[in-house]
Amino acid sequence: MGSLLIENGILVTLDDRHRVIEKGSVYIENNRIVEVGDVKAGIKADRTIDAQGNVVMPGLINAHHHLYSTFARGFTPPGTPPTNFEAILGKLWWKLDRALDADDVYYSALLALMDAARSGCTTIIDHHASPSCWEGSLDQVERAFRDVGLSGCLCYEVSDRNAEGEGIEENLRFLRKCRDADDGQMSALFGMHAQMTLSDATLDRCVDAGLSVDAGFHVHIAEDQCDVRVARDTYSKPIMDRFVDAGVAGPKSIFVHGVHLDPEALEQLQATDSILVNCPESNMNNAVGTAPVLEALDHGVIVGLGTDGMSGHMISQARAMYLQQRAQHRDPTIGFVEAAESLLLRNRLIANRVFPEARGALAAGQLGDVVIYEYVPFTPLTADTLYGHLLFGLGFSRVRTTIARGRVLVDDGRLPHLDEAAIRAQCAERAPAVWRRAAS
Ligand SMILES: [Zn+2]
Repeated sequence: MGSLLIENGILVTLDDRHRVIEKGSVYIENNRIVEVGDVKAGIKADRTIDAQGNVVMPGLINAHHHLYSTFARGFTPPGTPPTNFEAILGKLWWKLDRALDADDVYYSALLALMDAARSGCTTIIDHHASPSCWEGSLDQVERAFRDVGLSGCLCYEVSDRNAEGEGIEENLRFLRKCRDADDGQMSALFGMHAQMTLSDATLDRCVDAGLSVDAGFHVHIAEDQCDVRVARDTYSKPIMDRFVDAGVAGPKSIFVHGVHLDPEALEQLQATDSILVNCPESNMNNAVGTAPVLEALDHGVIVGLGTDGMSGHMISQARAMYLQQRAQHRDPTIGFVEAAESLLLRNRLIANRVFPEARGALAAGQLGDVVIYEYVPFTPLTADTLYGHLLFGLGFSRVRTTIARGRVLVDDGRLPHLDEAAIRAQCAERAPAVWRRAAS
C-alpha cells in the first residue's frame, strides 16, 4: 500500500494530551499512522499531500446507520400519511426494505458510503434489513465497503415480522466469516430489530446464536412509547429487563435510541457496561421524543451518536444532539460539550470495542483514517476552542481529502477509484423500480 505524508496542516490530534499542532505532519505507512507532529526531516513518502494550513483530523465514526435506506430519498408511501411511529414502520420502512433485491442492497450501500467518505466519516456501524434477499445480503454490503474503502461493522436485524427468526442464520454466517477473515476492515455484531418484533423464543435463539460466537448485539430500544408498551403488556416486563434477562446486555452491545428509557433502565445500561446510541435527527423526524442522553451520561452510560439513515453526516448529528437537548430542557448551558464528546471521544470508544484496530486519534500506531477539511480557522483553534470550530465551522466545510486505512479515498472532493457518474446512473435507474415495488 506504500507510504503517505501529510504536511503543513493544523493537526487536531484527539490524542492523550488533546494536542492541536500548528504546521504539523502525519506520516502513514501501509494502513497505520507511524509519526505525528514533527516528522523527521527528509522522510520520503510515496505521496506527499500539502494540507495548506487546513485542519487535519481523525476520520469520524458513525455508531448507527441504515445504508439500505438510500433509495428512500423523495419516496412518499401511497395512501394517507403515517401519523405515528408504528405506521411509519409499516407504511414506509417495512415496504422499502422488502422492495430491495441483492443489487439494490449493494448500490444503496455504495452510494451512501461515497457520501459518508465525502463528509469525513471512515468507520460505520450498520444495521441492515432486506427481507426479500436476506441470504447473503451482508456480503453485498461488505462488497460496497470494500469498493469504497471504509471500515464497516455489519449485522442483520432479526425480527418475526416476515418469518419467525428471519436473519439469525445471516448474522451467524457473517460473524463467522469476519472471525475467519480477520483482516480488520469488516467486523460484525448480532443484529435484532427491536424487542417489539421479537418473540421470547426468537430472542432466546438470537442470544444463543450470538453468544456461541462471542458476539455483541445491536438493537433498537424504546425508540417510541409503543416499544415500551409491548414489553409491559405482552411480556409483563420493563423493556430493559427483557434484554438483560435474555443476556443481550454487555460491553459490546449497542442499544439504539432509548428515547423512553427510565432511570432504572439507564442504571441497567451502566451496570452492564452497555452502549447507548443517540440519533437525534431521526428522533425529531419521527416525532418520537427526546432521548434522556444527558441523564444517561450522568448515570455513567457510554452515549454515542448515529445517523440512523438520515444522512452520512456526523457533525450534523452532533449539532442536532446539543440543539435538541437545549430545546427540550430550555437550558442554554447544556449539551454542547456532551455532543462534541459523544462524536469525537465516545464513538471511538465504541468503535474500539467492535473493531480490532485502534482508531480515532492522530497518534503512532492508530489506523490511518485521516480527514483534511477545507477549513483554515479565522479565530484561535486550540484544545479549548475545538468544539466551537467543530459544530459551527467544520460541519459546513467541504472535505478535501479522506484517507481510510492508509488509502486516499476522497482526493480534492472526488473518489478517483470509483466511476461515480456510472454508479449514480445505475442508482437512478434502480430507484424507480424500488419505489414501484415499495408502493405495491
Ligand atoms: Zn435504526
